[in-house]
Formats: sequence, C-alpha cells, structure tokens
Amino acid sequence: MGLIVQKFGGTSVRDRDRIFNVARIVANTRNAGNDVVVVVSAQGDTTDDLIQKAAEITSDPSEREMDMLLNSGEMISISLLAMALMEIGVPAVSLTGWQAGFQTDRAYSKARIKRLECERIESELARNRVVVVAGFQGLNKMEDLTTLGRGGSDTSAVAIAAALHADRCQIFTDVEGVYTADPRKLPNARKLEEITFDEMLELASLGAQVLNNRSVELAKKYNVELEVLSSLNPVPGTLVKEATKAMEGMLIKGVAKDEDVAVVTLVGVPDVPGTSFKVFSLLAQKKINVDIILQSTGRDGNKDLIFTVPRSEAENTRKLLDENVSRFGGSEVEIKTGVAKVSIVGAGMQSHFGVAAKMFEALSENQINIQMISTSEIKISVIIDQKDADRAVNAIHAAFIH
Ligand code: ADP
Ligand code: ASP
Ligand code: MG
Repeated sequence: MGLIVQKFGGTSVRDRDRIFNVARIVANTRNAGNDVVVVVSAQGDTTDDLIQKAAEITSDPSEREMDMLLNSGEMISISLLAMALMEIGVPAVSLTGWQAGFQTDRAYSKARIKRLECERIESELARNRVVVVAGFQGLNKMEDLTTLGRGGSDTSAVAIAAALHADRCQIFTDVEGVYTADPRKLPNARKLEEITFDEMLELASLGAQVLNNRSVELAKKYNVELEVLSSLNPVPGTLVKEATKAMEGMLIKGVAKDEDVAVVTLVGVPDVPGTSFKVFSLLAQKKINVDIILQSTGRDGNKDLIFTVPRSEAENTRKLLDENVSRFGGSEVEIKTGVAKVSIVGAGMQSHFGVAAKMFEALSENQINIQMISTSEIKISVIIDQKDADRAVNAIHAAFIH
C-alpha cells in the first residue's frame, strides 16, 4: 500500500472518452491497493481559449481578473473527473487549488507556491476517497486566486508529492516519455529511459515543453523522482531522477528549440565601469528575465550591449530602454524578433572534447548562421534565424543521436 500522485495534462482529459480513460487508470492504481491523489489540467485547449476570450474584451486585461478567468478551466476538469470516478464505482472528491491548500505569493499569472497545507487532502484520503486536485491554481495572501504559470499543473503535482512524501509521482501526457527531441516534430527522436534532474531542468528551460521547468526544480529540491508516461499507451516511460546509469556513447540527452526569444541591442553605450550594472539592474527591477548576454569590444570609448529576453517581454524592454537610454548614454535600442534558440543538453559533454565543434559543424554544413552562443557545463545554446530552427534541430540531432 502506497501513496501515488498522478498528473494528467489537457489532452489526457480532452473529452468524455479521455476522462473515462483517466478514471480507469486511477481506478487500477487504487485497486492495486494504493491511495491516489490526481492532479489535472484544464481540458484540451481550454486555457488558450480563455486567453482568447479575454483578448476579445481588452488588449490589456487586469492580471487579477486574468487569473480569476484561467482558474475556471481546471474547475471543469476536476469535477468531471470526480464524477467519472464515481460513475465507475470509485469514491472520489474534487478540490480546487485553494481547497487543497496551495498558498502562493501575489504574483498573478506566475505565482510561486509559498506553503502547501495538506490537511484537507489527507482527511479526504483517510475517508478512502481518491482526491482530484486542480493543477495550476493557488490563493494569495489577499485571498485572490492566482495561477502558477503556463504548464503549472506539473508543479502542483510535484508539490503535492513532496508534501505528502508520496511513493511515486507520475506525469501522464500525450507522448510516451521524454525524448531526445520533440517527437511530434522529429519522428526519429529516441525515448530516454532515464534523465537527471539537472539535464531535465535545462531541457525544460530551453523549450522542451514536456515538463514545466519549475516542476523539475521542485522535484530536484525535494528529491521527488518523476515518471513521465503516456495516458494512452501503457508502456514504460522516462524516469527523471538525481543520478542515472552512465549511458555509454550518449554524449547529449536532447535537442530543444525555443522560439520565445528576442535579441535586444543597446547601441553605443559608454565603455566605462557601471554601464552593465545600470542596464541590467533596471531590467531586473521590472522582472524582465535576461538570458544570453554579449558585449562588443569597446571602440572610441563606446560598446554595444546585446542580450536576449523572452519575446513576450520585447516591447516592454524596448519601452523601458527607450525611456532610459539617455541615462546609460546609449544612442539607440534595436529589437530583433524572428530568431530562435536551439540547444543541446547532456551531462556527458562535461567530460568530452569537441561537443561544441560537432554542433557548429552540423549547422555549418547546413549553411545556418550562428548569431549568438552561450554555454554552461551541461548545455550549449545558439541563437539563429527562426526560419532555420527546425532544420537546425534535425541536423544537430542527426549528428549526435544514432
Ligand atoms: P500536457 O498537456 O500533458 O501537460 P504538454 O503539451 O505540456 O502536455 O507537453 C507534452 C508535449 O511536449 C508533447 O506533446 C511534445 O510535443 C512536447 N515535447 C517537446 N519536447 C519534448 C521532448 N523532448 N520529449 C517529449 N515531448 C516533448
Ligand atoms: N491549464 C494550464 C495551461 O494550459 C496549466 C497546465 O496545463 O499545466 O498552461
Ligand atoms: Mg504541460
């Protein structure tokens, strides 16, 4: 007898048949003698549809009202799943995020979990019920509804597994596990048996949507081993854990693409101490997340500062820098969209020469120009033209994954 947390994403609860499919998976887990907490996302494209509905009303919705609206998506799926479970004879109860005890900070649309008080979940489990919890939802100190950011249901599931010391945390999705590249874009991508938290965190942060990066961060922090698997095809998935068996010859674990990126150039800022500090502290104050940073060599007392931000922040960044450009002494702000970040990830590159060269060779053979490069111990990212991104993923994948 154990306690298992099972999370099902939007496609897994898309319609009536999929909801009953999930109910049967949960029933089987329970019939095997386990307590089960289920975390679900909104059905299918519900969250996108709700965002579209708001856009029909205003181009600048209140963040509070936006979170109020988006909370409604998960309410539908928890209640329907609880009904389906009862329909097949499994006692169940649905709980919203706030009923389940998710207390967050006040940052609407990207709230962080501050506390999780699990008494209600525990008391419902003690009454022998399957507990169906709404993912993605939280409540802040002002008792307003919040959301944990897109893909946040993964984080809800991991948080519950950590708080309840669950024996297993299973993330069911619409592919069979974590692959060496997005299997929908690259049919010859390989399913990984295992991947470390660190590798998965990089892949998730660099665009592999299969797990939300904050969920992986939390899983690593509380050492919650994750199993990513398909809700439609009962085959072994991928284990995400602290350490994995050495995979002979597997230099990299995956290739990821992220199109949510824009390149910002601040032209002709003074080549003196303090310039970077002024620019990046201003961006930090406005919570704009800066990724790759380059600086040209100074000439005639001036230099260019070049960096990337999420594309959704590009206009905010332009406005902020335009307003302050005289303070930095720069002459102009340029923003370039139409770019993408393509990355490779793998702990194996720490102990091997020539990984970067091999990646650049694959790009060069395909006449793909690299605009920026950034590296860490276990990843290499390049910024290239967006139109070249899929070709780049293909070529790099072919070069590394046999
Ligand atoms: P869910 O609704 O279950 O949360 P998501 O759509 O958030 O599912 O994530 C699953 C999707 O992630 C897959 O359908 C796949 O297209 C995409 N994906 C991107 N990169 C990868 C990868 N490396 N391995 C597996 N899936 C990936
Ligand atoms: N429904 C939310 C979203 O679409 C949360 C999730 O699916 O994890 O982002
Ligand atoms: Mg998801």
